[in-house]
Amino acid sequence: MERAMYFLDQKDMPTHWYNIIPDLPEPLPPLVHPATKEPLPKEGPLPPPLFTDSVNKQEFSQERYIEIPDEVLEAYRTYRPTVLHRAFRLEKALDTPAKIFYKYEGTSQAGSHKPNTAIAQAYYAKKEGVKRLTTETGAGQWGSALAFGCAFFGLECKVYMVRVSYNQKPYRRILMETWGAQAVPSPSPDTEVGRRFLAENPEHTGSLGIAISEACEDAYANDDTKYTIGSVVNHVLLHQTIIGEETRKQMEMADAYPDIIVGCIGGGSNFAGQFLPWIRDKLSGKKPDMRIICVEPYAAPTLTKGPYAWDYGDIAGLAPIVRMYTLGHDFIPPPVHAGGLRYHGMAPIICHLYKLGFVEAQAVHQVATFEAGVTFARTEGIITAPEPCHDLRVAIDEALKCKESGESKTILIAHSGHGHFDLAAYDEYLSGRLQDYEYPEEKVKEALKNLPEVPAF
Ligand SMILES: *Cc1c(COP(=O)(O)O)cnc(C)c1O
Repeated sequence: MERAMYFLDQKDMPTHWYNIIPDLPEPLPPLVHPATKEPLPKEGPLPPPLFTDSVNKQEFSQERYIEIPDEVLEAYRTYRPTVLHRAFRLEKALDTPAKIFYKYEGTSQAGSHKPNTAIAQAYYAKKEGVKRLTTETGAGQWGSALAFGCAFFGLECKVYMVRVSYNQKPYRRILMETWGAQAVPSPSPDTEVGRRFLAENPEHTGSLGIAISEACEDAYANDDTKYTIGSVVNHVLLHQTIIGEETRKQMEMADAYPDIIVGCIGGGSNFAGQFLPWIRDKLSGKKPDMRIICVEPYAAPTLTKGPYAWDYGDIAGLAPIVRMYTLGHDFIPPPVHAGGLRYHGMAPIICHLYKLGFVEAQAVHQVATFEAGVTFARTEGIITAPEPCHDLRVAIDEALKCKESGESKTILIAHSGHGHFDLAAYDEYLSGRLQDYEYPEEKVKEALKNLPEVPAF
């Protein structure tokens, strides 16, 4: 009998994260200082001291494999290795010759891949004597993961949560508070940036860009405090490569190799964590025809509609300027349920690989993603978060293409988490109330007017 689940023994868990930077065919563009507009030195560090020293070093590291500290491995062992599944029941329902695998990150304590970096960042903060971490969160997945990481290492944690989610989605706020973090709605009266936006509009519903600015300002203002981010930057993608490193071993157990890898991208961390350990085979020419498909919502079509430009990571210009595909730092996303996919920019590493033609991008509509999520629930059983429902849509479409062509491709899905706190979205879908949103082309053009001017260098 063929196996439906591939377990990796804890003693065989990878001991290193994989750093793509030395293997990139061309170097990444530099980061640019938000105030001086000068490029930062390639070897770092980031100014001013926003992050812990350890992750600041990792951000620019040229080391191919970076050892995972023992304390981090020990924390990982409370939920890792995660299982690689073969989706036999989905394959059968689709009547496809494709082999579908999914690596499932929903079994972590926070229900997603995000603890993989939250634990690492909290550990380094503890080691460096930092007392308190700040961050932003949209729907609350990252905030809850960081709250969990801080609980593990005994740190204080303050989370600036986009106000509309704070009001509409209490469950992840309650998770944060249960793990001992403080969550406030952003814009908040606690920072200058927050007070500025509240003065303009006391009912401001907030955005990730504003919440990032608040969390950065808080970290600058307090010596015992560092800022953390849950996606986008190099060191977060690095920590997430534990996913792909495990999957490589598990696919070997299954005697399989992916022809297509699909994943959703918000800032790009879960998907990069899966595909970076594979893309080295594409870059080296060992598997040149491997397809890596980044999936995003039509409501926030960063790669598929945004230009490749210099832009701020946040709304107040406190975070560095990066070269990325962007919808503009003042992007206010339409209210789709995939809260994790609504950031205006994208991980520079993914943007660079997309620009060079090594990864593809596809946009999908919300209703179609939930249709895929329901098919998955009724076959594989898992209630999928709205974000990875995007992967399921594209994976199902690719499997159906195999049915037409008769090809037996191997499809690997980067399944980033469960949707137990997103049942209201399923309810809207099931009752026929769910709508599609397409971000208008004019708005993409309009946002470009506010991009920072970076001199050529
Ligand atoms: C946050 C989140 C995402 C999007 O973030 P990335 O950095 O792009 O991975 C995707 N899926 C889940 C379940 C999330 O919580």
